[in-house]
Amino acid sequence: MDSDKPDFVRTFRSDYRWDSVLRQPYKQDGSAPFRDISRQVLFQEPDMGCELRYFEMDAGGHSTLERHEHAHAVMILRGHGTCLLGDTVRAVKTFDLISIPAWTWHQLRANAGGPMGFLCMVNQQRDRPQLPTAEQLAAMKANPAVAEFLAG
Ligand code: MN
Repeated sequence: MDSDKPDFVRTFRSDYRWDSVLRQPYKQDGSAPFRDISRQVLFQEPDMGCELRYFEMDAGGHSTLERHEHAHAVMILRGHGTCLLGDTVRAVKTFDLISIPAWTWHQLRANAGGPMGFLCMVNQQRDRPQLPTAEQLAAMKANPAVAEFLAG
């Protein structure tokens, strides 16, 4: 192997960690509410215009409730939990595929019993997520299933 080039194979170690992949905070700036979740960027591919990230929540953890112009393509890779998309709440488990379209409120929550991890494909150039206003949150909670989901 050419020593000044990164290896084109980055070996899976164990426990959802890979060689040369940093485990980082979910969001750097702490500007949005989330809990017990980490981020690993597996691929950053300018030529393809995309990134593939692995997020992992501890038991009971959750991602930010947000929406944005860019879409997500998600595969659950570990554990099980619940996904909110728009006004729909669904149980999700390992290897399920989730399509998150533009401008749709979304959040993922790990079940209490264990961690949940997921792969998320996203545009490299993307807009900043929006958080719900108090009014938007109240409107979402008018749906009992959504209210129950958000109560965690
Ligand atoms: Mn998002």
